[in-house]
Amino acid sequence: MKSNRPHIDIIPLPAFSDNYIWIIRYENKAIAIDPGDANPVLHYIAEHHITLTHIFITHHHPDHTGGVRSLVEQTGAMVYAPNTARFSYADQPLNDDDAIDLGKDLTFRIINCPGHTIDHIAYYNPELNTLFCGDTLFSAGCGRIFDGSALMLYHSLQRFAQLPGETKVYCTHEYTLANIAFAEHVEPNNDALIQYKKWCIAQRQQSRPTLPTTIEQEQAINPFMRVRDSAQIPAEQQFIELRKAKDRF
Ligand SMILES: [Zn+2]
Repeated sequence: MKSNRPHIDIIPLPAFSDNYIWIIRYENKAIAIDPGDANPVLHYIAEHHITLTHIFITHHHPDHTGGVRSLVEQTGAMVYAPNTARFSYADQPLNDDDAIDLGKDLTFRIINCPGHTIDHIAYYNPELNTLFCGDTLFSAGCGRIFDGSALMLYHSLQRFAQLPGETKVYCTHEYTLANIAFAEHVEPNNDALIQYKKWCIAQRQQSRPTLPTTIEQEQAINPFMRVRDSAQIPAEQQFIELRKAKDRF
């Protein structure tokens, strides 16, 4: 029996030294997430004869937005971005819990996730169980603090932790091995982390991404997802200390 499910692929386009621009390819169309550079996206859509229909932005940093203007000029794609003054050029400003409906299997819910920046958002697709989280969560780590706060970031990661464990997490940097070095320092006896490190090394040796990860995987290996209240120190305080320790590591 033929499935009605449209075929959807999610493809990483490497950019700069360690960014991924994620492409959601559906039918003969594509959505680009955080295109810091227009060229890899233009090259990809030309090579595959597909149309760029939408650009999703998670936050304002240039390595996530630098290609937007050029892509809009050359493709006419619609820009979705947080509903703040920084993104006055957006066609569709987005608030927490807003829904985007682009057709079957292409619905997204907005999750406000401040911390790395004050107006950072993530795009969650419940049908495909996928989360595009920008620089909020990384595999084995989390974003640095710019104009948000570590406490905000703690609460943002707690929101991600409520998603189903099998949710695939599409982070925008290949930072995994560097993050694992710090995670090992925090939890030297974490067996799941030791196993995961072997897998990540093998992936990178073959020039493959370590991403996407999953919420369940991060709960097993990511020290920033593993802080718990203790008798002496509440979880959020431990998180803040951990974030500071990572900055010094
Ligand atoms: Zn950033």
